[in-house]
Amino acid sequence: MAGSKRSEVLPEVLRRLREAHPDARYELDWETPLQLLVATILAAQCTDERVNAVTRPLFRKYRDARSFADADPAELEEAVRPTGFYKNKARAIRDACRALVDRHGGDVPTSMDEMTRLPGVARKTANVVLNAAYGIPSGVVVDTHVARVSRRLGLTAEAKPERIEAELIRILDVSDWIAFGPAMVLHGRYTCTARAPRCGQCILKDVCERIGVEDASVGGPGDEPARPAARARRPRINHTPEGDPMSPDQLPESWQSALSDEFAKPYFRQLQGFVAKERAEHQVFPPEADVFNAYKLAPFDRVKVLLIGQDPYHDDNQAHGLCFSVRSGIKPPPSLVNMFKELKADLGCKVPNNGHLVPWAEQGVMLLNAVLTVRAHEPNSHKDRGWETFTDATIRALNDRDDPVVFMLWGAYAQKKGKLVDPARHTVLTAAHPSPLSAKKFFGSRPFSAVNAALEAMGKEPIDWQLPDI
Ligand code: SF4
Repeated sequence: MAGSKRSEVLPEVLRRLREAHPDARYELDWETPLQLLVATILAAQCTDERVNAVTRPLFRKYRDARSFADADPAELEEAVRPTGFYKNKARAIRDACRALVDRHGGDVPTSMDEMTRLPGVARKTANVVLNAAYGIPSGVVVDTHVARVSRRLGLTAEAKPERIEAELIRILDVSDWIAFGPAMVLHGRYTCTARAPRCGQCILKDVCERIGVEDASVGGPGDEPARPAARARRPRINHTPEGDPMSPDQLPESWQSALSDEFAKPYFRQLQGFVAKERAEHQVFPPEADVFNAYKLAPFDRVKVLLIGQDPYHDDNQAHGLCFSVRSGIKPPPSLVNMFKELKADLGCKVPNNGHLVPWAEQGVMLLNAVLTVRAHEPNSHKDRGWETFTDATIRALNDRDDPVVFMLWGAYAQKKGKLVDPARHTVLTAAHPSPLSAKKFFGSRPFSAVNAALEAMGKEPIDWQLPDI
């Protein structure tokens, strides 16, 4: 659709969305700009309802930026634990609030430039706060709903949120920037849904190009009546895992940005279709919500170490999106047992009573399998379906980062990925695979102390490899 045509369609799109959603606003509870900032940080990968339950007592206890900045880390982590990824979120809140105190006298600034200079605050979060708390049209909030609906309508062909926003800003009147986001979120949430858009019921069907919608005819299987309560609902800015579990919005913003080119490529769409079909017909591991856990627990800008695995565990209840790691309560498999033996020999760490490696991931050890899903009890059943292309792009993105990374490549399969890494800028540590088949060579490789030595040489904090008992 040419730019002029987009401009012609847009006023009508806006008029209809406003009529359908006259009270559109975000669903997080807040009273001050600081509270909205904190709530928005907590809302990543969490429902707004849960965030609201957490922030009620949180905002009573921590009343200003200084109290958040000075919060006892363990206490703050405990307070935000129900929102998930609580260590990262607690650190993000403390870091942002420390910057607010140091640079802005404890106030939340009112410009995009100052907002995005705060640690961990990207454009989407800044736009939410500036738009909703201050009524400042700093830009257009582009979450996954806004991005998807804009693309389908033909308003943009871009994939990266910041490019979509730039395009929307160009074609929207500034007086519409603030209202556009919430109205589009509602439309995407209840009508133009990721998997089954209800085109037959859609108020925009005669002005929509339905770009990328597989069955572009109206009246398809997704055409159940739209939820009658939709008009009265308040939209949630999409940082929740409620949409398509294979959607890019499942990733933290930093990864969405780093990998945005991948999501627009045909192979990724085919991969999404393949995994959805597999899930419909077979049991697939890990569960949908866990597929991207390696990315969620180690945002792009916080990855210090990348450990590459091959394929998720294929037995019941083991896999949860981190290579080598198993869910709590599940007996560690042989390779992991060998890793713990080597860890004890290497650094004297006590062997934990579990194989849940989340504490490593939360310190920036990205535990990435090359293939992120598998059919139950059929190892390697999802190989060569597109995951390798996606995870290779992940490795390349880390390789392209200025900030160096320690790459841990165990076994021949992982070591082949070494060709994606520039050893002049990063540290590449190779060892045998800890599987019983090659454990003899793995033992004595002392990979954990080697990682810490490399991190210290980079001026970074070493990893605390000791896992707590559960
Ligand atoms: S017509 Fe279909 S694709 Fe277009 S906005 Fe409506 S639901 Fe979405």
